[in-house]
Amino acid sequence: MNYREKGNKAFVNGEFETARQEYTKGIEVTPEDPRLWSNRAQTFIKLEYPELAVVDAVTARSLIEQKIISGEYEDADLALLCKSGWREAVALANCDGFELAARALERLFQIVNRRPVAGVDWNVWERERDRYFKKHYQDTMLLSSLGSDRHILIEQVGKICKFPSRGAYPWDFRSQERCTSESSASVQKLLEKISGKNIEVSLVSFPGVSQTQEFGIVATKNIKRGTILLDEKPFISVRAPGQLRCDFCNKSTSSKRFSCPKADCSEIFCSHDCFDKAWELYHRAICGKNLDSLYEIVNKESKSSGNSLLLVFKIFAIAKQRNICPLDIEEIKHLFPFQHSTAWFQHGLMAIDFYFELMKLLEIPVFDSRYEPWIYLTIYRKLKPNSTFLNPLTLTGQLYPIISLFNHHCDPNARCSDDVSKSIQRGEPFSLVPILSTRIEAARNIKKGDQVFINYTLGHDFSVLSVVGNTVKSSGSTKKTRQLLETTYGFRCKCSVCDSSSN
Ligand SMILES: [Zn+2]
Ligand SMILES: [Zn+2]
Ligand SMILES: [Zn+2]
Repeated sequence: MNYREKGNKAFVNGEFETARQEYTKGIEVTPEDPRLWSNRAQTFIKLEYPELAVVDAVTARSLIEQKIISGEYEDADLALLCKSGWREAVALANCDGFELAARALERLFQIVNRRPVAGVDWNVWERERDRYFKKHYQDTMLLSSLGSDRHILIEQVGKICKFPSRGAYPWDFRSQERCTSESSASVQKLLEKISGKNIEVSLVSFPGVSQTQEFGIVATKNIKRGTILLDEKPFISVRAPGQLRCDFCNKSTSSKRFSCPKADCSEIFCSHDCFDKAWELYHRAICGKNLDSLYEIVNKESKSSGNSLLLVFKIFAIAKQRNICPLDIEEIKHLFPFQHSTAWFQHGLMAIDFYFELMKLLEIPVFDSRYEPWIYLTIYRKLKPNSTFLNPLTLTGQLYPIISLFNHHCDPNARCSDDVSKSIQRGEPFSLVPILSTRIEAARNIKKGDQVFINYTLGHDFSVLSVVGNTVKSSGSTKKTRQLLETTYGFRCKCSVCDSSSN
């Protein structure tokens, strides 16, 4: 029995995880066989990962579509095209992408043009297309009646979308090894590079949380208020397409700039030093590439969400340059992956388009198992909640993998001491300079052994701050901040402030 036959057998027996594994092995051997992709798509639908089914169904379809269009095909090819087209539509609809689902069916109708195909009732499929369009129309009307308040949107969108919130995929063994005493030793090494001897990485647990342990930062001695605990430079930075900023550090390049010396590359840096660092980290993998197709997708997105796709792109470039799986990048291995369903509802399927473009640009074959779609989406989920410094005002974003280790408290004992956060905390006007490095300082005296917390909502998401004129203040522990913590970071805050306000 070959892998496909083994997969089929498991599928018929309802052993979908086994089927997924067999089809995946088959894809590594014969990636050009559309049947494997189409069958794995159906398996992902059964396993309730429609976002992964979309990628496989699209791949199956694109492998066979040309044959049908050119007219040189057999009945089995036509049946397979219909099957994968149907699966693509179902998967899209299960991701709440009803318009895309309807369009996928329309595309299929155009190519096949009601030719008789075994197992296909065109009348039924057309009714399904109409149902998708209707659902899309209803959703659009509902959303447009809600206005732009992010919090009302999240509440209402949460009610209409079926797509579940996601963390790690169950077969992701790296996620199971993410938070262990061995892994904390390697994270400790990363921390020591940028901090003094006042703090260390520790495994901590939170009352009433299903997850047993998480990383946290703990004081190793008594710390005086105002002490700088660490100073981290971003691991990677991104900016909205078209901005004249250094590709490595985000500094403005309007006065001083250094162009990549390669003749076919137009990337700009602020200095030779930044170019060298970018070259070492990721630029070799993308030097001279035209990124317009990526920027086109990013520009369709709401600003900060598009930026996080660009962060994923840079992480993939690093992995390509190191010739490893992106999940094995030492600097970000420890990040917690989370994606709330409402974010997926608004942006998720664009992320799939972005995946196909990114793979093309980096010249990675779609069957290279180190860069599979689930790995891409896991990286996406790691970066979304952890690149909390996405700044909607400067349209820049940074990833600080070590600052991400601090846990949240609504009345924290430490804080960012960069200029922007300081102004926010003091309620002063601040200038729109992208943050180039970020210090964390003790906000009060901290006792040896205490966990050190920062406030995730301060200076990270402007929608939970109250803006008066050009000054900004935190609104403390409110329903809105708790909602932000749940939908962006995936936890219900149980800190002492939230505890006392909910009682
Ligand atoms: Zn620079
Ligand atoms: Zn270059
Ligand atoms: Zn709280």
